[in-house]
Amino acid sequence: MKISKRALLNIDYSNDFVASDGTLTCGPVAQELHDYIVKTTLNFNEAGDYIAFLVDLHHEGDKLHPESKLFPDHNIEGTDGRKLYGKLEDTYQALKENPNVDYFDKTRYSAFVGTNLELKLREREITEVHLVGVCSDICILHTAIDAFNRGFDVVVHENGVASFNQAGHDFTLDHVVEVLGGHVI
Ligand code: ZN
Repeated sequence: MKISKRALLNIDYSNDFVASDGTLTCGPVAQELHDYIVKTTLNFNEAGDYIAFLVDLHHEGDKLHPESKLFPDHNIEGTDGRKLYGKLEDTYQALKENPNVDYFDKTRYSAFVGTNLELKLREREITEVHLVGVCSDICILHTAIDAFNRGFDVVVHENGVASFNQAGHDFTLDHVVEVLGGHVI
């Protein structure tokens, strides 16, 4: 198997964050990313690159979780809200047996916190992480910062990220380039 130096981190593109009836949805701006994220996922797969699906996981009634004071319930275990949005769910189902594809439950904004994502990247000698998903200024930004702190090159796909907070979205793209030394493509 080819050893690739880049990986696609597919973050939180779930019904609750994207669908019109999602409990914490970014709405139309997130729905517009659908075709780009599906296509990019297929392109990375075709190239033999590593693809990580990282999906927020919460448990009903968990009042100890720090997000419980900030946001309504979202991505509750076992619900449709936690499934990937649109054709990305089908795409994941079609690719999931591929050894270059992994799915991670994550419980914090950063995909590196409480997961073995870093170990998976290191064992593949990956140096560059490409980010798509939502929300730009929450899980994308926190993951980008943690990737930078761990020495990974960060690439954010402008047509693959969105937020309900446009100012936060714009700040994130700027921060990735100016402060994390990454790229926005
Ligand atoms: Zn959450």
